[in-house]
Amino acid sequence: MTLVGIVGGGQLGMMLAESAAGLGIECLTLDPAPDSPASRVAPAIVGAYDDETALAELAAAADVVTYEFENVPVASARFLAERAQVFPPPESLEFAQDRVLEKTLFEEVGLAVAPFSPVSSRDELAEALEVIGVPSVLKTRHLGYDGKGQVRLVSVDDADDAWRAVGQVPSILESLVPFDGELSILGVRARDGRAAFYPLVENVHRDGILRVSTAPAPDVTPELQATAERHTLAVMERLGHVGVLAIELFQVGEELFGNEMAPRVHNSGHWTIEGAATSQFENHLRAICEMELGSTSLSAYSGMVNLIGSVPPDRSLEIGPGVHLHLYGKASRPRRKLGHVTVIGADPVTRDRVLGRVTRTADNLA
Ligand code: AMP
Repeated sequence: MTLVGIVGGGQLGMMLAESAAGLGIECLTLDPAPDSPASRVAPAIVGAYDDETALAELAAAADVVTYEFENVPVASARFLAERAQVFPPPESLEFAQDRVLEKTLFEEVGLAVAPFSPVSSRDELAEALEVIGVPSVLKTRHLGYDGKGQVRLVSVDDADDAWRAVGQVPSILESLVPFDGELSILGVRARDGRAAFYPLVENVHRDGILRVSTAPAPDVTPELQATAERHTLAVMERLGHVGVLAIELFQVGEELFGNEMAPRVHNSGHWTIEGAATSQFENHLRAICEMELGSTSLSAYSGMVNLIGSVPPDRSLEIGPGVHLHLYGKASRPRRKLGHVTVIGADPVTRDRVLGRVTRTADNLA
């Protein structure tokens, strides 16, 4: 039986392990927390992500190692790669962890990005502001996620506060894109180079955290889908990526701008568990374990609402046909993703009606 080692034991690791069971794949996770969500469904090594004893134990036990979050230290991924097969490759992590490398790669494959400028000092921020202007957003180059490590500037007078707010660390200043909507595309690439793509998803964020995803994104032309797929394939090929890769995009009319990528299964793909022929979790495992990829086609109109900060008390969320509650077993904390609800419908109108109801219930909890 194949054993997949997963660095990280969060909800993504949990859903990977759940999906693995159905494929006859065993999982072993590594997470510093003894009560991680994934530890509820798979054995776990409790250890830090840079603990070489723990990493070596994971590599020795696993046929293939993967990871479920993009801030795994690249040095740890390389350490693992000397001892086991690691997919996606450490290069995917390296690019996803650095906003400058990431945006440069997007530009190289022809995916437009917001005008940006690297900033490593207060003086460089002043210079960047002259070029990029306002409104703009200053983001840390590394370790930003869910809107953390970023601050908006509406006037050049905001520079001092912004530089302090990001912690005076290497950053980038980028123009604010007046987008019509935020989209994401999930691609999956197998070890033999074959690739498949899920339909573009529309995402609505609140306070920098994904709130609601709708699949397929409304009003997406086949041309826009093809463009997103072409760029994602090019990024995956450049990186030698194997597994799922998500790219977050801004849509401006028929134009796409690349914002960032995640070299892993992604929150905006949770709907695929119930709404696609093969879930993103199953396809990630299929890709890294040299199994044939499953169909990425949509099986129902889908939507997903994240439960952030608090979860519905027992039975207060009306679970009817087409409504699927997923809880991660995490303690409540503000801004923490504690679960999600997927809604599927035979048509967009039904889906939107139920999705609206579920979203309002979730909003009343927050
Ligand atoms: P990020 O951490 O880069 O994914 O940013 C979090 C969220 O902030 C995005 O999903 C957008 O809603 C918003 N955002 C980030 N960068 C920009 C930008 N250049 N223009 C407009 N909105 C942005």
